[in-house]
Order: sequence, then structure tokens, then C-alpha cells
Amino acid sequence: MGTIFEDARRGIITEEMKKIAEVEGVEPEFVRRGLAAGRIVLLRNVKRAEKLKVVAVGEGMLTKVNANIGTSNTLIDLDMEVEKARIAKKYGADTVMDLSTGGNLDVIRRKIMEAAEPLPLGTVPIYQAFMDVANRKGAGIHMTEDDILNTIEKQLKDGVDFMTLHAALTKELAEKAVKSNRAEPIVSRGGSIIAAWMLEHDKENPLLSNFDYVLELFKEYDAVISLGDSLRPGALEDAHDEYHLSELMVNARLVKRAREAGVQVMLEGPGHVPLDRVVADVRLAKRLTEGAPYYILGPLVTDLAAGYDHIAGAIGGALAAAHGADFLCYVTPAEHLNLPNPEQVREGVIAFRIAAHAADIVKYPDRAMKKDIEMGRCRGRLDWECMINLALDPDKAREIRDQYGPTPLKSCNMCGSLCVFLLLDKWRKKD
Ligand code: SF4
Repeated sequence: MGTIFEDARRGIITEEMKKIAEVEGVEPEFVRRGLAAGRIVLLRNVKRAEKLKVVAVGEGMLTKVNANIGTSNTLIDLDMEVEKARIAKKYGADTVMDLSTGGNLDVIRRKIMEAAEPLPLGTVPIYQAFMDVANRKGAGIHMTEDDILNTIEKQLKDGVDFMTLHAALTKELAEKAVKSNRAEPIVSRGGSIIAAWMLEHDKENPLLSNFDYVLELFKEYDAVISLGDSLRPGALEDAHDEYHLSELMVNARLVKRAREAGVQVMLEGPGHVPLDRVVADVRLAKRLTEGAPYYILGPLVTDLAAGYDHIAGAIGGALAAAHGADFLCYVTPAEHLNLPNPEQVREGVIAFRIAAHAADIVKYPDRAMKKDIEMGRCRGRLDWECMINLALDPDKAREIRDQYGPTPLKSCNMCGSLCVFLLLDKWRKKD
């Protein structure tokens, strides 16, 4: 037996492919073809396959949402991160990424993985490679290529299902970007670590120079590589500039190499992008990668929404997903300001669930719209329990419904006895 990608290419429909088809409401052969072409990936490390919810990403699959959580090295509260993992799961995230950089990273990752189960877990292994060396040798910049590769292997052995690898940031691109006039030269944390390492050691990106070995590792665990975008725009004015697009071209070549090696791969994207360029962004990424699953951060469509960046990101995310982005990385209200607290994680997840669902109504109306149709009918009947239960965040819906205590009428306090449904009730067609 090979990887799921190889099985699909050999024309074999496995039990996992059947499960994906069942979960997504499509035919198994459609799933097999998408996997074989590299247009669909299954987010799971083969070691944890039995424990996980089936989360497939790509063409024809419902839009998925990821929640980033994790400690920083100035705020280490494992209980809070575990709580965030539970909240992300409760409010509808499809995956969780542990981006921890502070504390005992192995312990934290395992706890978060446990709390997030059965959701697949993603990481950015360069964080741990850098921080472990910082703790051992006083500065992460002393990490070796082996430190990076060994960290990837350790995390794969632990069962991590997908990892962001900033392999496309070449030394030449990093040198140009840091000296450029970009508003924010490199806003990716992983990308900045790699760039600093290359500049310090005058060496090529170890994830790029060792990419064949990295592919072997991922193949062994049948996990998914998520190709990071170190030069993603951190400000609207940097969107689709030569740095952003140059890295995209390198990533497109890496997608091809991963596919040739039988490894599942997806591409990461923006960032901050003006609303009128979001669709072009998705089309370009899909075109260059021959339809690789597109995992997109936001995109935030204004730089001015600090405190409300989950809304700025969900607006861009809905548009991107409606036009083909497959996987949305949430943004919380704390974006650009602080590490999110559990309540902000909830707000971010819900905002992006709304964005993903709005996009699915456009992409797959037959599969996605059933509950919306039901909700409309419940509203027409003033069936409050039905409305609350169907809401993407039933807790919030109930809280607002009850905020002034019981309502005196069957309607709500907005219009009271002038409720349109009460006024016309006598003449309405009854079921
Ligand atoms: S009272 Fe007004 S807002 Fe409330 S359900 Fe009736 S029409 Fe809608």
C-alpha cells in the first residue's frame, strides 16, 4: 500500500476515500480523481488516521476552517491554550494549528493535540527547531539543518497531520525582500526565522535544499505539506508585488515536486489583499499549481480594522472561498494586537465559519443550503427553538434572545405586536 495519493493514482478507491465521499456528499470516484490529481488532500498523519474526523480539503470539498492557537514566549498558559483548542472544536473549526513558541513545546503540542482530537493538528516546525536551540544554546540562530529536519521528523512521529514549511523563500528573495521598500518586508514568523538564518549563515534555505529528504519524511507518515508563503502581503500595498509573486512561482514548482514524489501538498496564500484582487489571487494560485488545495489566511481586505480583523478577514475569506479557495485560516479580533484569549478564538472561528458557509452556498448550493432553507421557514413560524438550534453559534443566539427576560408575545421585542408575522398571521397560508 502506498500513500493515499499513490493509491488514488493507481485507480484504487480505499475505505478512506469512501468515507470522504460519504462525509462530503459526493461520489467516491470523484474523490479518487481529485486526490490523484493533487486537487484534494486528506489532512491526517497515517499514524492517527483511526482517531481523526475525516477532513479533506480541495476541489469539490466543503470549505474548511482552521484555528491557530498556541503559547508565545512571553505568555505561556497551557490551560488557556487547551481551553482554546476545546473552544475551536466546539464552535466548528475543522482543524487546529499549534503555533506555540513558549514553554515545553513537546508537552504543549501533545496536550493541544489531545484537546483538539478528533480534529487534525497542524504545526510550523521551524518554531520549535528555533526555540529548542535558543533554549539550549542561547540563540535560535545557531540551529543547524539537522535541528530543523529532526524537529520535522519528531513532530511527524508524534502524529502531526500537516505542517507549514517555508521552503519557497530562497536566499536571493530573502535578501531582496529585507532591503526592499515593502511596507512590511517579511511578515511571516516562520519566514523571518528562515530569512534570518540564511542571512546569518550565508546559506540557502535548508527546507529547499533538503526538500527531497523532507518529501521522504512526509511520505513515510502520509502527512500533508502546507507550503508557506513567507512573503505574503502584510499590508494592502504589498499585495501581489514582485516578492509575493516570485515566491508563489517557487511554491508552484515545489507543489509539482511533491506530487511527483507521491506526497500530499497544499499551498498557502495571503495576507492582506484589496477586495477587488481577491478573486484574481485565487485564480492565479490555482492556475499556477494546477488546482492544488488553496489554504488562505483571511484575506484581510482593509488594514484599518484592528480589534475587528476577524470581520475584515471573513469578508475576504468569503469571497476567496466562493471563487475556489478551499481552506480558510481564521483571524481573531486580537490579530495585530495580542495573543487571542479564548473568547476571541470563539469569535474568530464563528466569523470564518460564516465566511466558509456563505461560500459553500455559492459553490455547492445543493449540499450547503439545506439548513438555511430550514432557518427561513423557522423564522416565518416564529419557532425560536428551531432558530436557535440552527444558528452557527446557538449560545450567542440564545443569550441575545433572552437578554431582556421572557418576551410578552410570541414575537420579539424589536417590533412587539407589530411583528410582521403576527400582523398577517390570520391570512397566511398554513402548512
Ligand atoms: S418582532 Fe420584528 S424582528 Fe422580531 S420576529 Fe417579528 S418581525 Fe422579526
